[in-house]
Amino acid sequence: MSQKNLILLGPPGAGKGTQAKELSTRLSVPHISTGDMLREAVREGTPLGLKAKAVMERGELVSDELLTEIVRERLAKADCDPGFILDGYPRNLAQAGILAGILEDLGKSDLLALELEVADDVIVTRLGSRRSCPDCGAVYNLVFSPPAKEGVCDKCGAGLVLRKDDKEDVIRERLRVYHEKTAPLSDYYRQRGRLKTVPGDVPPAQVLEKLERAIG
Ligand code: AMP
Repeated sequence: MSQKNLILLGPPGAGKGTQAKELSTRLSVPHISTGDMLREAVREGTPLGLKAKAVMERGELVSDELLTEIVRERLAKADCDPGFILDGYPRNLAQAGILAGILEDLGKSDLLALELEVADDVIVTRLGSRRSCPDCGAVYNLVFSPPAKEGVCDKCGAGLVLRKDDKEDVIRERLRVYHEKTAPLSDYYRQRGRLKTVPGDVPPAQVLEKLERAIG
């Protein structure tokens, strides 16, 4: 694979986290999820977490300013030298511009955006059956990838939960925000010749194969 500075685009529940983890192992580049970073900040009660918590629980976007520095610091770390997989950032056109500036400063402007396409009704069903580990962040799906023991995390033994923002009314709000703010990023990267799109509604192993082919 040649191109390793990657952005995963697609609606919430498209499988970005699952695919990013797998690609991260295969390409030996870090998986950087702003959602995971924010959830960790909320768990730890940091100033960032305190500001982000209520916004996240409503399914809205945290302000661009709150994210800029954490993304800049993370991308500047040495483990990003061989590349990175951004999952959940950028989320709107302003963030795409901010990211372009950060990457230019870091001399990493060579970038590929991979978009996972999944229809809204598939997303609502998927996220409603998603269960997450509040301690280690592992993610399960009750239908497709259930834990070995019902309600218990395979990796750390903690009790699994339905994320507050995976409740149906919040999912609908997240999808609304996605279509209004995040979907325009496809055109942004397409116009710059940096977009590849793959179907996200096939089994995860097939999605991975298509992503690897798109990466080249
Ligand atoms: P995710 O796990 O990517 O679905 O993110 C969960 C929530 O964290 C989102 O619904 C937002 O409230 C917040 N969030 C994550 N990434 C961003 C971002 N790049 N910009 C603004 N808010 C974000």
